Amino acid sequence: MARLLSLLVMFGIIVSVVASDAAASSARLTGVRHLSGLNYTRVILDVTRPAKYTIHTLAASPAKGLPPRIYLDISGARLAVRPPRVDIGDRLVRRVRLNQFKPGVVRAVLDLKHPGSHDAVLMANPHRIVVDVERRAGGAGRRHLAVRKIVLDPGHGGKDPGAVGAGGLREKDVVLRVARSLAPRLRKELGVDVVLTRNRDVFVPLKARTAMANRERADLFLSIHSNASLNRRAGGLETYYLDKTTDEATLKLAARENGTARRNLTDLQIVLSDLKLNVYLPDSISLASHLQSSLVKKTRSRYPRAKDLGVKKGLFYVLVGARMPAALAELFFVSNRREARELRRPEMRRAIVDGLARGIRTYADGLRKREDL
Ligand SMILES: [Zn+2]
Repeated sequence: MARLLSLLVMFGIIVSVVASDAAASSARLTGVRHLSGLNYTRVILDVTRPAKYTIHTLAASPAKGLPPRIYLDISGARLAVRPPRVDIGDRLVRRVRLNQFKPGVVRAVLDLKHPGSHDAVLMANPHRIVVDVERRAGGAGRRHLAVRKIVLDPGHGGKDPGAVGAGGLREKDVVLRVARSLAPRLRKELGVDVVLTRNRDVFVPLKARTAMANRERADLFLSIHSNASLNRRAGGLETYYLDKTTDEATLKLAARENGTARRNLTDLQIVLSDLKLNVYLPDSISLASHLQSSLVKKTRSRYPRAKDLGVKKGLFYVLVGARMPAALAELFFVSNRREARELRRPEMRRAIVDGLARGIRTYADGLRKREDL
């Protein structure tokens, strides 16, 4: 196995060339997806298994009629994308061109509109190389989290109280309080923009909530709810992402949370026929998992019996149409006397806010975790 390790400096940019396992076991490059953010473009190269790559920047070559480019050489890879060209045409990236540069090496060229900086990371489940392109800022390279703007969505409000539980505790009040303390935490700790779909006790239609997130070009949408059940002993925490489900309890919960939208399942199923194309699904699952585990951890430190109901998929209308990774957290059951009492306590709400903030942070760090070279 030939191992080549060298470090080059090109155009003032450090390019690292890493070891490759020749063509011993090749990955196939099966797809190219992209997301267009306000200030960045994310290009996602789907591969069938982890693949080493190098990434380089090239200045424009007016003589050859070539724009500024970023290219990746993916080693131990075969090209399986037809046609080998994907037009993007947003503010930053014109197109992605692919070719089998040589046996075992696929080259992906991003034609840019302006000189750009890049940040790439190899991610798993599914395996993919994620390249974020930003317009190059003057001076020192600026790096920040891929999560730049977050929309928090406290459920219900106004004429819609949500679930009403033990002692008259209203879901709409609990979730508004949580969202209002979570927002400044995220601004401070993650340096992100945070927008709330409602900042006071007003009714906001479900559709308007994701529409706001799309309009804001948010990178993450979190809908915050509290659960309820006819079984007063039911309790615990669960986090959802949008997907089809046949689970009876989840269908009931979704029906309740979807209530004010006056949507029936048929409408949802139509929308969900697009779900197969949901490029945000893997990140939404990752987001929901990080939220759930840190919520359980933080709330158990003050309420050890907090039950982990897990990460689940559900047809929540409020998540439909979100053009970004999205999750919905159900914070305990207002119908459970003990949990309602906990939800009234500022210490418990602080633990919940801790859990949500930490979950978002670990999710964002995961997006930014660089391949271990
Ligand atoms: Zn709710």
